[in-house]
Amino acid sequence: MSLFDLTGKTIVITGGNRGIGLSLAHHLHQFGANIVILARDIQQNQLALKTLSEKGERVLSIECDVTNSASVNQAMAEAANWQGGIYGCIANAGGRSDGYEFAEMPESVWEKTLSTNLTGTFNTFQAALKYIKNNEKGRLLAISSLAAWHGNANFADYASSKAALEGLCRALAIELAPFNITVNCLVPGWIDTEMNAAVKADKRQFEAIKRLRIPLRRWAEPDELAGAAVYLMSDSSSYHTGDSLVVDGGYHIA
Ligand code: NDP
Repeated sequence: MSLFDLTGKTIVITGGNRGIGLSLAHHLHQFGANIVILARDIQQNQLALKTLSEKGERVLSIECDVTNSASVNQAMAEAANWQGGIYGCIANAGGRSDGYEFAEMPESVWEKTLSTNLTGTFNTFQAALKYIKNNEKGRLLAISSLAAWHGNANFADYASSKAALEGLCRALAIELAPFNITVNCLVPGWIDTEMNAAVKADKRQFEAIKRLRIPLRRWAEPDELAGAAVYLMSDSSSYHTGDSLVVDGGYHIA
């Protein structure tokens, strides 16, 4: 337990009110972290808080839109004020468009995906670092996607946003190493969340992805990412930075 102990450490998770973010919040909380959830849907934030701790111990949610730097700065100041600082931050908030052939992709769709997945992470990390840099060490983690690595027809917006996110993290890993702050990406494969509801509803596509593309022959539950996230946020990953850690059932080597 001690290798992964997060007692007393405040970790901010964007998009922590459902899906992957909520699962990571749950497991980090179990290892002792104080959890701050930043997301837009206040009702969903309240539900998430109840899931994390019936008694409201060591959990806080703040309404925040990561595409708006003022909103993120305000939320991060509130988060830092709560328990006296911020130790780590997970930029998880993200989304995908419905998919467009590149020639038909409206500029508004391109901009929305980039502003949530990439600029949202820029806003989040920049705001969090004001506080994390005050510590003797810290952790930044971004949730990327296999779309950053593989050709992903009809999702040029999503693939570009996640590939750029990985570039951002590698640059930051070098810049922040002198401050003993590690910066990594977690790269999930297919995870069963709301974001993939439409793909799952298409039975033929769902079966084809599982049988033909994933060696372990199934999608993952969000909880199956948690161990990697706990490791990357804990002291046990003290010498691990600038990496993209893949958890995908073997998809990327098949
Ligand atoms: P969900 O759709 O289940 O959750 C998305 C989360 O992001 C919600 O909490 C949502 O909260 C939040 N969010 C979206 N936009 C904003 C915004 N502008 N400001 C603040 N919060 C926002 O998706 P997943 O849990 O599946 O995805 C989480 C991350 O994992 C994303 O970055 C996604 O790209 C990535 N990922 C997912 C994979 C999968 O297979 N599911 C695979 C690879 C990567 P709210 O709407 O309340 O603001």
